Amino acid sequence: MGSRGASGEDEGGGRADRLERYRGKRRFDTTAEPRGADAPSGDEPAFVIQIHDARRLHFDFRLEVDGVLKSWAVPRGPSTDPTDKRLAVPTEDHPLEYREYEGVIPGGQYGAGTVIVWDQGTYRPLGRGREGGPDSFAGALERGHASFWLDGTKLRGGYALTRIRNGQDGEAEAWLLVKEKDAGSTRKGEHATPDPRRARSARSGRTLRQVLDEEA
Ligand code: MN
Repeated sequence: MGSRGASGEDEGGGRADRLERYRGKRRFDTTAEPRGADAPSGDEPAFVIQIHDARRLHFDFRLEVDGVLKSWAVPRGPSTDPTDKRLAVPTEDHPLEYREYEGVIPGGQYGAGTVIVWDQGTYRPLGRGREGGPDSFAGALERGHASFWLDGTKLRGGYALTRIRNGQDGEAEAWLLVKEKDAGSTRKGEHATPDPRRARSARSGRTLRQVLDEEA
């Protein structure tokens, strides 16, 4: 389908075109990040949250939508406290295979630094995006508000992404990632945010440091 990405910059075309920005930033003879081929999609769309020790340490939050991973950099990471509003800055669509990527992006490359998969699983659209399947979830994102239920190894429950700045007039596009109140939420003061330096991969059990030591 000829959908615009959440960033509004991706025009028409298929999945290959939507990965143009992703591929344009990387040299695949140097980095082991996936180039993006035809990965089979599961019955339920996937999500992944990576921790990325780049120039600035941040979390990357990614949701499978129409064959690619819609992506946001979340500097402080997700919180299970519904009163926390976490800034989420959109980044380029990533290939589905990226949900399995952890490793060290070489120095000098785009995003140089260590990546671990902090959480992974599937999600279900909630609210308006629920009725028409993934297409209308994409529509909800285009309209600037989408809520969804995460079934992850670590995170479970409702979350919402809301666009707060549309990226026009020279300002960067910005969203908020907020936990909804449910059995998976915590109260103020309880441990609500992972410590990125101590956190362990949901895929391999490794910390950032262990991945760096093993793969650098
Ligand atoms: Mn990143």
